[in-house]
Amino acid sequence: MPTTRLAPSPTGALHLGNARTFLINWILARQNGWRILLRIEDLDGPRVKTSADRVLLDDLAWLGLDWDGEPVYQSSRREIYQQAIARLLDAGLAYPCVCSRREVELAASAPHAQDGAAIYPGVCRGRFESMEEARTISGKNPCVRFAAPDRVIEFEDRFLGVQRINVGRELGDFVIAKADGTAAYQIAVVVDDLESGVDEVVRGDDLVDSTPRQILLYEALGAGERIPRYTHLPLVVGPDGLRLAKRHGDSRLSSYRAAGVSRERILSLLTKWCGIDGKVHHPRELTDQFSLQNLPREPIIFGGEIP
Ligand code: GLU
Repeated sequence: MPTTRLAPSPTGALHLGNARTFLINWILARQNGWRILLRIEDLDGPRVKTSADRVLLDDLAWLGLDWDGEPVYQSSRREIYQQAIARLLDAGLAYPCVCSRREVELAASAPHAQDGAAIYPGVCRGRFESMEEARTISGKNPCVRFAAPDRVIEFEDRFLGVQRINVGRELGDFVIAKADGTAAYQIAVVVDDLESGVDEVVRGDDLVDSTPRQILLYEALGAGERIPRYTHLPLVVGPDGLRLAKRHGDSRLSSYRAAGVSRERILSLLTKWCGIDGKVHHPRELTDQFSLQNLPREPIIFGGEIP
């Protein structure tokens, strides 16, 4: 059975922007008969907020979304990510890196990717024989970087159409394990999606640059034929054009709930942002009407008022 997943990060409560992405993911799944898994992406230590997972799950359920089976927590799967990282190191597809973020930023010739992050200049590629050696020589705990090949990766996004990107040139070698040993987002997602048989990934278009990196990881793990189909959706932004966040005021679902705003009002706004007008009481009313073709192509602007 085709499978998708909702993958919230418990780094803050669900706000209107994430809620819209999850709603669309849910509608697509229910329209097409995909199984929906729920995964809590709670590896990002300092940013993860205690019990935010509970609030997230309550928010999703309050909105009327459901899923199949119990939520899976990435924090319970660290060992499995370590094995994948070790495999890539052993195969010479990844390498230890002891450069600090500052050193990468300062590298005189460091070109910058579209998102403004410096492209790693490859200083540690081929420099150490092993993690152990990197540690001994530098006296630091190395992170692990994936050696991105100089080759164009192409995929057909269900919403954005064909995307092409040369990861090696345009994004550079990327981190798959942090210096403290924690698996980075890119590898954890691929290992999880692969193991749970996810074949449909629906997420915000802030992650569109992650997709070619993840495709490379599928290939490196020997699962090139199991690469999912991707759908990247435009984000909700504030009046300043920046991604909806705290600076735009409190747009957390939990705050609206606490203030007594009804589910119908929230759903009707999210629905309008999906290009559909009218009152909605439950997401299941949308499965007949929703179509990716009618989804607005530009970012949705939220001015702070729930109509
Ligand atoms: N946890 C990520 C987020 O909340 C989503 C990751 C993904 O869908 O691959 O933005």
